[in-house]
Amino acid sequence: MSSTVLLESHLKTLKLPSFLKEYPQAARQCAEKDEAYEEFLLRLAEREVTTREANAVVRRTRQAGFPAEKDLTSFDFTAVPKLNKKRILQLARCEFVEKRENIVLLGPPGVGKTHLAVALGREACRRSRRVKFFTAAGLATRYAEARDQRELLRLERHIANRHLIVVDELGYVPLGQGGAENLFNFFSACYERTSLIVTTNLPFSEWPQVFGNERLTGALLDRLTHRVHIIEIQAESWRLKDGLKRQKGGDAGKR
Ligand code: ADP
Ligand code: MG
Repeated sequence: MSSTVLLESHLKTLKLPSFLKEYPQAARQCAEKDEAYEEFLLRLAEREVTTREANAVVRRTRQAGFPAEKDLTSFDFTAVPKLNKKRILQLARCEFVEKRENIVLLGPPGVGKTHLAVALGREACRRSRRVKFFTAAGLATRYAEARDQRELLRLERHIANRHLIVVDELGYVPLGQGGAENLFNFFSACYERTSLIVTTNLPFSEWPQVFGNERLTGALLDRLTHRVHIIEIQAESWRLKDGLKRQKGGDAGKR
């Protein structure tokens, strides 16, 4: 067998696809420039590492299950002048995940809460964190659907295995007794172990109404807000503004 065939077979066995793809060209370049053998190896190793990292980010982002591709570069901070941009960019460095801290994004519908939560979540994926996105209703349903102990354990293990969990739209729909208890168990399980980003349209004082139980809500808020960054967003609804702009531009209803 020729040495090329052997080499390529070994590279496949070792799962080094970038090495395999790039080595002929790298070998040619290094020969032309009369570079050291180490230089050749380094170039290929670097390529392998970079590709692997990029693939891992794509995989983590897919596994997180975000509802849309939103990021910080597409967020217009000038539309929300009261929002502290520096603070958001600081949070995007994800030290809060390291410190097991939480974020609560609070504000009326349409002001970009979900956009920011997804953007911060994707940033965490980029920084090697395992992330999962749920809506509050979806999360309550997942618990309710875990019929037996085994399924529940699997769900809890999945949750415990994340560094960061986004719970979107807490408070939009009343949860009912079972749903509230499930979410309470969820918040307890995450306490000081998994960071949370919660988005909500309800000030904390109104949470007992959603959970239907003053004592439960108190205990839940206690855990959630122990170490928390509260970000209040006051602005006009972007959806509304965007809609009006489109109408003025004469292309209303074209989407
Ligand atoms: P909320 O979760 O607060 O109800 P969303 O995050 O769903 O609001 O925002 C509604 C829509 O408007 C989304 O498509 C979002 O990307 C967009 N949006 C909201 N605020 C901004 C902003 N400041 N810059 C860019 N897009 C925004
Ligand atoms: Mg939202």
